[in-house]
Amino acid sequence: MSMQPTAGELIADGFAMGGERLVALDLVDTELLAVDPPVDLIGTPEQLARWWALQQVRLPAGPVPDGTAVRRLRTAVRELLGSHLEGREPSATSVDDVNAAAAGAPQSLRLAATTDGLRVATRWHPEYGGNAALAMIARETIELMADAAGLSRLRRCANPNCSMLFLAEHKRRQWCVGSVCGNRTRVARHYEKTRRS
Ligand SMILES: [Zn+2]
Repeated sequence: MSMQPTAGELIADGFAMGGERLVALDLVDTELLAVDPPVDLIGTPEQLARWWALQQVRLPAGPVPDGTAVRRLRTAVRELLGSHLEGREPSATSVDDVNAAAAGAPQSLRLAATTDGLRVATRWHPEYGGNAALAMIARETIELMADAAGLSRLRRCANPNCSMLFLAEHKRRQWCVGSVCGNRTRVARHYEKTRRS
């Protein structure tokens, strides 16, 4: 599960960013909310299928879930992460939606016989009616919301015109993608300074 698409791969395919350690973060970042009107980058079935294909390497196998279910989970994840960033209580609906997605496809450990002996494998259970990939994204969110050290690295991009969230792997990271938002903001600041002087 360590393989993940890079920000560059996602941007080349029309997405704003990606390549975060958690799929949950990449999912939240498929919506641009600091622009008017907001832009949903997985708003069409084709866009959703493209995003899903890029993320598939780190998701349990299974069909691309229904767009409505994906967007509902995305809303819930963003609301939960936002509650931490804004220092407020999360909404009960978000908590319920994330819990429901996680419970929709529980997982169990199993022993798998390999040529190197017995190994531990994870089995997802979509037979309970849920989607395993959505369950995994919900589970990532649950684990993050209960992880104080992880949450302390959660940031919103420092560009005021950008709504992207990410986990800063080092304290100095302020931008979703430095080459995009970092440059844009540096150029704007430089322009402001030279205009005033
Ligand atoms: Zn940004």
